[in-house]
Amino acid sequence: MFFLRIVSVTLFIIVASEAKALNKNSNTCSEILGNELIEEIRSYENVKNQILEYVLNGDFKRKTYDELAKFVDKFGARPSGTEVLEKSIDYMIELSREEGLNDIITEDVVVPHWERGEERLTMLEPRIKNIEILGLGRSVSTPPEGITAEVVVFNNFDILEEAAEDLVKGKIVLYDPIFTTYGETVKMRTQGAAKAAAKGAVASLVRSIAPFSINTPHTGSQYYSDDVEKIPTGAISLEDADLIRRMYDRGEKVILNIQMSSTYDTQMSRNTLIDLKGSEDPEKLVIVSGHIDSWDVGQGAMDDGGGLFISWAAPVILKRLNLIPRRTVRAIFWTAEELGLVGAYAYEEAHKDELDKINFIMESDEGTFAPLGLAVGGNEKTRCIVGEVLKLFESINASTLVESDSPGSDIAIFTGNGIPGASLHNDNEKYFWFHHTEGDTMNVEDPDELDLGAAFWTAVAYIIADLSIDIPR
Ligand SMILES: [Zn+2]
Repeated sequence: MFFLRIVSVTLFIIVASEAKALNKNSNTCSEILGNELIEEIRSYENVKNQILEYVLNGDFKRKTYDELAKFVDKFGARPSGTEVLEKSIDYMIELSREEGLNDIITEDVVVPHWERGEERLTMLEPRIKNIEILGLGRSVSTPPEGITAEVVVFNNFDILEEAAEDLVKGKIVLYDPIFTTYGETVKMRTQGAAKAAAKGAVASLVRSIAPFSINTPHTGSQYYSDDVEKIPTGAISLEDADLIRRMYDRGEKVILNIQMSSTYDTQMSRNTLIDLKGSEDPEKLVIVSGHIDSWDVGQGAMDDGGGLFISWAAPVILKRLNLIPRRTVRAIFWTAEELGLVGAYAYEEAHKDELDKINFIMESDEGTFAPLGLAVGGNEKTRCIVGEVLKLFESINASTLVESDSPGSDIAIFTGNGIPGASLHNDNEKYFWFHHTEGDTMNVEDPDELDLGAAFWTAVAYIIADLSIDIPR
C-alpha cells in the first residue's frame, strides 16, 4: 500500500542512522571476498586519489557549492507540480550538456501539485497572540473566516484513541510529540489529521518534527484517510506548541482561530536520467541520485539541492577526467519526492522489466554535510564488497559502513525490493534543524563538505561501476 510504504520508508532512514557499524565482520569478509577481489578493490587507490585531488584541490574545487548556489539562488524553492520546478529541470539538463554529457533523457511523471495560500493562526484565549503556522502538504482550506475552536493536546495516538468522544469532538487537536528520532515522531505529522478527524476534531496541528527550533515551523507531507473527513492541518513551532501545552496543562482554556487556503491538482513533471555510458557493459547501471523538487519554503538547498548536485557532479567529474567505467553511471534527478516519492515510483513502473540491470543504486537525501561513509542495503557479500571499497576512504574519514535493511528515501523503493544500494551516511546531526523550513538555504551548506561529498560520491560510483564482478543480489 502506498501509504504504508511511505511510512516505512521514513523508518528505514532512522534504522540506518542508528544501526551499528559493520567492521566486526572483517574476518568473514576476507573469506567471502578472497584475496584476488580484495587486491582488485585496493588497486583503485590511484583512481580514488586522482578524483579526490581533482575535487579537493584541483579544477573542481568549490564547483559543487558554486553551482548549487547559482541554482538555488536562481530558482529558490521548487515544489512538485510548479513551473519553477520544470524550469529548474531544464536548467540542469542544459548545465549537463555544457559539460559534454549528451546521453540525457527525461521521463514524464504525473505529480501532485499542492499550493499553499494564505495561512494565519491566532490564539484568542487566554491571550491574543500570533502563532506562525505552516500548512502540511495536501491540507484542505478552512472557510474564509477560519475555524475557531478550543484546543486539546495529545502526545501520542494511543491517548487520543482512548480519549472520550466529547473531549475531542469539535476541537482542534494539537499533537506535541517530543522529537526522539524522525521515524518515531513523523507519524504524528503524516497521520495526525486523519486520526484526529476520526475522533471528530475540526482541525489538527502538530509540534514541528524537529529537535531544535528558533520559532520556525517545519512543514511536510501528510495523508488523509478516505473514510473520514479531511480537516485542515498545519505545523507550529516547538516554542508555540510548548506554550500551548503549558497553558493546557494548567487547565487554561486555549482557543485558536485557524485560517488556511490552498489548491490541489495534478501536473506533469519529469525524472531526469543522465548517463555516462559504460565501456564494456553499458546496459548495467550504477545509479547516483537526489531529488530536484523541494518544499515551498526556504531554498531547498539542503533538501535536496546538495544530494542533487553531488549526483550531478559524479558523471561530470568522471567525464572531465576521462574515467569511463565498465558499467554505465546514471545520475537520476527524481521529481516529486516530497509528496510521496512519486518520481521514484514512476521510474520503478516504467523500468519494471529491466530492474535487474541496476547493479547498485545510490541516493543522497539526508544532507550533504561531511561524508562519513555509506548506509548499505544488500546481502553479506554486497556489504563486504562495499566495506572494502570504503576502506579506500579512510584518509577523508568516510569509511564507515552502516548496515540498513532499505537505505534511502526514493531508492528505498528499490533497496526494499532486494536491489543493492546505499545512501550517503554523513555528519548530519543538524539536518532536522533546517528540514522543511524557511531555514533550508545555502547558509546550511559548506563548500569544503560539499567537495568531500562530491569526491566521495563520484569515486565510490566509479569503483563499483568498474569492478570486474557485479554487486550480488
Ligand atoms: Zn529530501
